[in-house]
Amino acid sequence: MLELNRYDTNELKEKDKKHLWHNITPYSEQDRPMIVTEAAGSWVTDSEGNRYLDAMSGLWCVNVGYGRQELADAAYKQLSTMPYFPLTQSHLPAIELAEKLNEWLEGEYVIFFSNSGSEANEVAFKIARQYQQQIGQHNRFKFISRYRAYHGSSLGALSATGQAQRKYKYEPLTSGFLHVAPPDSYRRPDGMSVEDFNLQCANEIERTIVWEGVESVAAVIMEPVITGGGIIVPEPSYLKRVEEICNQYGVLLIIDEVICGFGRSGRKFGHQNFSIQPDIVTMAKGLTSGYLPLSATAVRKEIYDTFKDNTEMYSHLRHVNTFGGNPASCALALANLQLLEREQLVARAEVLGQRLRSAFDDLLEHPLVGDIRHFGFLLGIELVADKTTKAPASVDVVKKIIGECKRAGLIIGKNGDTVAGYNNVLTFSPPLASTDDDMAFIISTFKQVMANQIASAD
Ligand code: PLP
Repeated sequence: MLELNRYDTNELKEKDKKHLWHNITPYSEQDRPMIVTEAAGSWVTDSEGNRYLDAMSGLWCVNVGYGRQELADAAYKQLSTMPYFPLTQSHLPAIELAEKLNEWLEGEYVIFFSNSGSEANEVAFKIARQYQQQIGQHNRFKFISRYRAYHGSSLGALSATGQAQRKYKYEPLTSGFLHVAPPDSYRRPDGMSVEDFNLQCANEIERTIVWEGVESVAAVIMEPVITGGGIIVPEPSYLKRVEEICNQYGVLLIIDEVICGFGRSGRKFGHQNFSIQPDIVTMAKGLTSGYLPLSATAVRKEIYDTFKDNTEMYSHLRHVNTFGGNPASCALALANLQLLEREQLVARAEVLGQRLRSAFDDLLEHPLVGDIRHFGFLLGIELVADKTTKAPASVDVVKKIIGECKRAGLIIGKNGDTVAGYNNVLTFSPPLASTDDDMAFIISTFKQVMANQIASAD
């Protein structure tokens, strides 16, 4: 751990500014980064001794909370026994974790390990294209995803992403990626029922497949619920209809569980709330609760079986990842899943999500709050400038509220500055192990900040 008395914070910040390139943050906001030095439970402490409740679990990942000694112990033990061997061969932690993931997935899947969510999705795209070729569908190379969705930062995963500002200045990206509208029920046409609107959005996928040429589409990729793009929760019938369309047209269904997985949704995986059986499931973040890098691409066994044809020279997956499935990461992930089970944190996520949603009920009367959506222990508050027209609140208003929460010791998130026109959703994704006191703090602090917005407008 950093010894605070060896450095003063200002000196650290100068060094930071000189040597470190921060993720996504605009340069003007990097002047005074928070330097986190300790973390326990749902709380983090910065180098100046300030404490914050992290209601975003880092980047939506620290599901079991910070400071779990048994996760550190599992990694340490594995590093001391056998720190590294590539998965061109095999090792015990990877085998045990793959078996455990199958139990969690409630299906028969074969697991490919990587290090990040982006990589897990890249692997899914390569597998989907190769699979289609290997079953004689030589022209199926296109992918369909949704506007507002985020699927990662590498060029393929970014191509699947439906957020314009993330792509700006990095284009042209990978060809063959198409987008359809998400089921954003809050902004459905006047007079249309939520159910009909969701059906219309799902059917847009069918129309796109047909218009593009059925024989050209390899797969659809989606999160069960759009998370980073603004917590867009579909009707249960939506995902069922998407699955039906995919099955009808021979298109694979890839479900991105990078955020929704590992209990966040109140079920082990988000898609289990919708009773669908994806062809490929990608996962990262909560797999290790963010303690070490690890991600996975789970592929239905029937698909994997088409990669076993020894009579064809290139039927196997020619993808290698030096660090993917690192033994310490796998051992830690296994300990993480055992902890989630032992403390029944998946069920707790459902309870806490419901509690947060109910506590925020009265915020629907607030002049800035257009809509509140939740899915398990994920919650989004859509801020509007005008409740009748639903005109989105400005980025400045969103940032002001986030800044005031932070000054009061509460870290909440927003849906990036990357969704064209709609950067107006505040997000909550606290550790699933948050205590009742933590919950009380999140609720009272946020409500006070929102009340202050009315007072300061008067
Ligand atoms: N998919 C989703 C839904 C995500 O939210 C993210 C990251 O936030 C990714 C993929 C990419 O994961 P990573 O940042 O580990 O590459």
